[in-house]
Amino acid sequence: MTHLTLQAVTKRFNAAYAVDHVDLSVPDGKLVSFLGPSGCGKTTLLRMIAGLETPTSGSVTFAGRDITHVPANRRDFGMVFQSLALFPHMTVAENIAYPLRLRKTDKAARTRRIAELLELIQLPHMANRPVTQLSGGQRQRVAIARAIASSPKLLLLDEPLSALDAKLREAMQVEIRLLQQRLGITTIMVTHDQREAMTMADEIVVMEKGRIAQVGKPLDIYREPVSEFVADFIGLGNILPVTYDGRDSVSLPGGQQIVVTRPARAPDASTDIRLLIRPEDVCVKPVSMGAGPNRLSGTVTFIRDVGASVEATIDCAGFTLTVATTSRETPGLVPGMAVLAELPAQACKLVAARQAH
Ligand code: ATP
Repeated sequence: MTHLTLQAVTKRFNAAYAVDHVDLSVPDGKLVSFLGPSGCGKTTLLRMIAGLETPTSGSVTFAGRDITHVPANRRDFGMVFQSLALFPHMTVAENIAYPLRLRKTDKAARTRRIAELLELIQLPHMANRPVTQLSGGQRQRVAIARAIASSPKLLLLDEPLSALDAKLREAMQVEIRLLQQRLGITTIMVTHDQREAMTMADEIVVMEKGRIAQVGKPLDIYREPVSEFVADFIGLGNILPVTYDGRDSVSLPGGQQIVVTRPARAPDASTDIRLLIRPEDVCVKPVSMGAGPNRLSGTVTFIRDVGASVEATIDCAGFTLTVATTSRETPGLVPGMAVLAELPAQACKLVAARQAH
């Protein structure tokens, strides 16, 4: 069932469009992530869903009801926003109790609910601790407990983990995702971190300049990006300007011809085309393998070996490729070595070039 529907939602600040005719359906129980570079309109869109900002035009429907002009405090959504910090003078339990008090939940029910939430966020022993004495991750968990205390039908998270260091952030991503799945609560999360979106989301909405560039499951977007902008924003990629013959072959910047799988939605050969190949799809072969289809000669110029994975930079005539492999898969790579880089046809995607500004 679709829970939340946005129809042509638009927000203009003076003459500038922060959000420009966004149509979107968020299904029940899913976690959807708004992802995009700074200033693309993610937060403004989330604030309109929250009721903290009124759309210039368009409508927001929730569970079949038009809520476009319903004030935030009447929407009963849970929110974790940077601007809605925990109350520093209160304990963990008092913070979590706050929305329950607002709703005049009776004391016995409140006590039960607080105990349940403390278990859920795995901080039962910290009920009476002032929130100022918690770590960043613990504070974040309390903020989430407070947001879900009154069992909202929709949870809105705006960069909830941005203040945390990398390791804690990764751990919290998993924790929040597991909690969201356990509760089955429909959630929208804003982030500019593609790895975070890929870890947590059922669906990613990639935004570009106030519009939706692509919506889909994380791996579908990773494998089949619709444009250079999306290809570049999601994951690492080799993106090369190519000339496309309109069928199944392209010429690379060095003039080499390679075969590609003809895309279902073939870009027009007259437009600017980019070839995308992900680093893990490039196969490095010894020179002794000899020439072959889609095999390019190159020289290794840099190796980043971090133990679990190896990243190699290969200089081919006219362009550079980044390759992701492991020392087990491709042993003995060293800078200066001559190699062959094979680009499997089915891994070569063609996308329309990013439009000039
Ligand atoms: P970030 O990741 O940096 O938070 P964002 O994708 O969330 O960015 P928004 O905060 O939604 O982007 O902003 C989108 C655009 O709208 C930006 O150009 C911003 O400057 C503009 N904007 C946002 N709020 C206002 C406001 N209250 N008044 C005027 N312009 C605004």
